[in-house]
Amino acid sequence: MNTSNQKRIALISVHGDPAIEIGKEEAGGQNVYVRQVGEALAKLGWQVDMFTRKASAEDARIVEHLPNCRTIRLTAGPEEFISRDNLFPYLPEFVEQVLKFQADEGIKYTLFHTNYWLSSWVGMQLKKRQGSKQVHTYHSLGCVKYKSVSTIPLIAKTRLEVEKTLLETAERVVATSPQEKQHMRSLVSSKGNIDIIPCGTDIHRFGSVSQEQAREILGIDKEAAVVLYVGRFDRRKGIETLVRAVGQSQLRGKKDIKLIIGGGSRPGQSDGLERDRIEEIVAELGMSDMTIFPGRLGDDTLHNYYAAADVCVVPSHYEPFGLVAIEAMASSTPVVASDVGGLQFTVVPEETGLLAPPKDDAAFAEAIDRILSLDPDDRNKMGRAARKRVEKMFSWEGVATQLGELYEELQKPSVEEEVKPKAVAIA
Ligand code: UDP
Repeated sequence: MNTSNQKRIALISVHGDPAIEIGKEEAGGQNVYVRQVGEALAKLGWQVDMFTRKASAEDARIVEHLPNCRTIRLTAGPEEFISRDNLFPYLPEFVEQVLKFQADEGIKYTLFHTNYWLSSWVGMQLKKRQGSKQVHTYHSLGCVKYKSVSTIPLIAKTRLEVEKTLLETAERVVATSPQEKQHMRSLVSSKGNIDIIPCGTDIHRFGSVSQEQAREILGIDKEAAVVLYVGRFDRRKGIETLVRAVGQSQLRGKKDIKLIIGGGSRPGQSDGLERDRIEEIVAELGMSDMTIFPGRLGDDTLHNYYAAADVCVVPSHYEPFGLVAIEAMASSTPVVASDVGGLQFTVVPEETGLLAPPKDDAAFAEAIDRILSLDPDDRNKMGRAARKRVEKMFSWEGVATQLGELYEELQKPSVEEEVKPKAVAIA
């Protein structure tokens, strides 16, 4: 039995670099998840290596986050941004690089925790090549995603096949909400082992300032009614629904409503084009004066925005988990979210916020108005309930503890493995 490997875990996130700036296109929840899980595991005594594809020549090959936690960027394909729909051809090279890294470092990982379907393929190849085990988190399911997009990419067929094989062969699949598990069972396969372990959030950073302090820092009027969106500029995030909802708010003209739409974008790229489209709708509805686009919100300030808001809105068409909802809740800010996926798990209607059907401007308008009309005591009660729910269920420490227990269970040698060496000795 090899004890040196017992507390070692390799996370693979081919397209979601855990060391990169969050809030740009293709950098969102998955990057946060891998990084936070990695760091929390390291604090629990794990040796954590997180593998990603090197997507820029300027990026360092290895980034040390904590003494036992590092991101390792492997060269697979050109060292430039490649969208996830075009990454599949470079995966065999990624597999070779993981094998080479282990040979160079004299390490052999017995367990890989893979993230998103691209990495799941890498994990399945490594299983064949070196007999390693696999835990997988999907982050997004092709069968759900392709229902909501107008153009299905060429890679769709491959993705759906890989996602099915993975569910049926991985030692364990981690669903981040009961809703995601249900989708896996009804849309992917009835075979395979699924555990539910949610995503987490930093309960120390979020919730560290009061609304009053945050507004002072950000220069927001005490009396304003602040509606906040945080996330990527992607049509499926439903920002248009939010803008149209605020546009038809009954409180317009009665309260000083400020709509803050936070998130990074790059001019001319798909996130930049979506931001342009949203800005046009804002202008058409005569909302330019009340709407603020602060750009990407970094670690130094994101918590202030959540704390300053009266309500945080998550209008996504679909969301397997939705980190933004629990970040806002950890900041004691009620959430109005689409009644879909993981948001049905994190947001408790009437207690920690409200749910509305996705793409339904009128329902969102009504829900937002209801929160903005609460008297301060009721609003604070809702905020406190939100915070409590996150503390109880969604801290990274708690999530990493559950994942660590799962890894340990899977890395325990099976009875078969324990008797094997004896059999060899007798022979
Ligand atoms: N985010 C950020 N700054 C921004 C916009 C987003 O740090 O300007 C972070 C946000 O706090 C959250 C993540 O990006 O942690 C988005 O995760 P979520 O699960 O909500 O959506 P995804 O991007 O995975 O679709």
